[in-house]
Amino acid sequence: MESFWLCEDCLQAVAYDDFSALSLYYSEAEVDQRIAHLRSELQTLLPLSADFDPWTGTGIEAISTRPCEGCHSPLHGARHRFTRL
Ligand SMILES: [Zn+2]
Repeated sequence: MESFWLCEDCLQAVAYDDFSALSLYYSEAEVDQRIAHLRSELQTLLPLSADFDPWTGTGIEAISTRPCEGCHSPLHGARHRFTRL
């Protein structure tokens, strides 16, 4: 099975279809652009299923320096593992 490590933004988008966190970091025009970008990038990976466990930390990297495999964001931060169904 293919696994992908996704950033916080992609996690929210895939798991909850929720982009509200984005508005904290970007202007309104940038948020729209980023949502469109996330949607189109993630569309090519779907369907994905969450493959991490918040209780044990399995499938979670708190600080990763690898780019997000969903939106290709180079920003360092948490990555969560997803598996293609
Ligand atoms: Zn991402």
